[in-house]
Amino acid sequence: MASKFQVPRGTRDILPGESERWVVLESSTRDVLSRYGYREVRTPIFEATDLFVRSVGEATDIVRKELYTFEDRKGRSLTLRPEGTAPLVRAYLEHSLGQTDPLTRLYYIGPMFRYERPQAGRYRQFWQIGAELLGPAAPAADVEMIDLFYWILRAAGLAEITVHVNSLGDATCRPVYRERLRDYFTAQSDRLCGDCRERLKTNPLRILDCKVPSCQPVLAGAPSVLDSLCEPCREHFDAVRAGLDALGISQETAPRLVRGLDYYTRTVFEAYAAELGAQNAVGGGGRYDELVREFGGPATPAIGFSIGMERLLMATGPLEVGQPARPDACVVAREPSATWEALKFARSLRNVDRYDPQDALRVMVDPGGRSASAQLKWASKIGARFAVFVPPDPDGYPVRDMEAGKDEAKQKSAESLRHWLLERRRQVGPAPEGAAR
Ligand code: AMP
Repeated sequence: MASKFQVPRGTRDILPGESERWVVLESSTRDVLSRYGYREVRTPIFEATDLFVRSVGEATDIVRKELYTFEDRKGRSLTLRPEGTAPLVRAYLEHSLGQTDPLTRLYYIGPMFRYERPQAGRYRQFWQIGAELLGPAAPAADVEMIDLFYWILRAAGLAEITVHVNSLGDATCRPVYRERLRDYFTAQSDRLCGDCRERLKTNPLRILDCKVPSCQPVLAGAPSVLDSLCEPCREHFDAVRAGLDALGISQETAPRLVRGLDYYTRTVFEAYAAELGAQNAVGGGGRYDELVREFGGPATPAIGFSIGMERLLMATGPLEVGQPARPDACVVAREPSATWEALKFARSLRNVDRYDPQDALRVMVDPGGRSASAQLKWASKIGARFAVFVPPDPDGYPVRDMEAGKDEAKQKSAESLRHWLLERRRQVGPAPEGAAR
């Protein structure tokens, strides 16, 4: 069906058939997060532009090229959030969330916006699940965070997960490493792309993030950050790795992992799924011990991660499986005058006033004012298991098994029919998605 309008480039509609998978992913994730003691924060999808420029970093691709920035009617510069950590830290400070508990565990789920070149697994609006632990500096916090990260991915159905870990050092050792990198890349600058030559001036660490093929041989020979770590950073990193081993989380050290945001200190990590290939991480995170202070708050070490929901869903099954959901029953009005009765009877079968997901029948009515035989045809087309007719006969409501094409015993009341339908469903299981004829 042609429309004058299409979805904006780089965005997508999540249609019935796929949206059910999103709901399942969100609930499995919320469940795991809540078991680890995390609580949700919902921030606005736009913030003051400066919030992102100051935290994500002026020299990052996100800030240089990918922000959706606009002025509102009063000339304030606002930006659609490209990530969730900066808004969450803003909210944490604005509402003094750290005062009630010095270890604050928060999470978010929502859409993010980046003006990137669209390709498989890369969108301009995409969804992230993110969690942040604010307060503790100890390596055990990093380990718990990576453990949580890992189990959210497992609960979502990812079987093979490789966690890559690295340390970016701190305010003592990172500047030393940055200079070593600058010296190395300066000597090779004629082999670098234009962007990387620019990064050489602003932040040479960002060069390690470059995806341009011609830069890769230069990157491969770059000095490793792990050789530049100061003693406390090295001890921290060793303890994180030992903790992951103790918890049985399989990990690889990835000395060139820098991540695309400037606020990270010490531990950074990413996860890859066999299904997505090496280019596309399913999620990542790291420690950001300076960010709260940079936002004007007290010194507060913190660590967090985010997971791309489209990527996670792609890694665990096909996107876009627009299949209909089959109803347990359709209520057919035998005469147009029985339409209200059909609507009311269907409602009592749904039992919505005492909602219990175990007892939830899906019951539909064709409200198109069509003949009984047209309603039956429709019921069969959408895969309804049973059709029920109103008004009832003197001895009860007629019920037809749509698959077998035969009549069942009449049912005395909505309540008895409801129990009968639930019993039938218990015997054969809920109607499978997408089995309509
Ligand atoms: P980042 O905030 O860049 O560390 O990204 C964290 C995760 O979000 C990535 O590992 C991806 O799974 C996902 N992600 C980031 N950018 C995009 C995008 N443009 N489209 C889809 N997913 C993305």
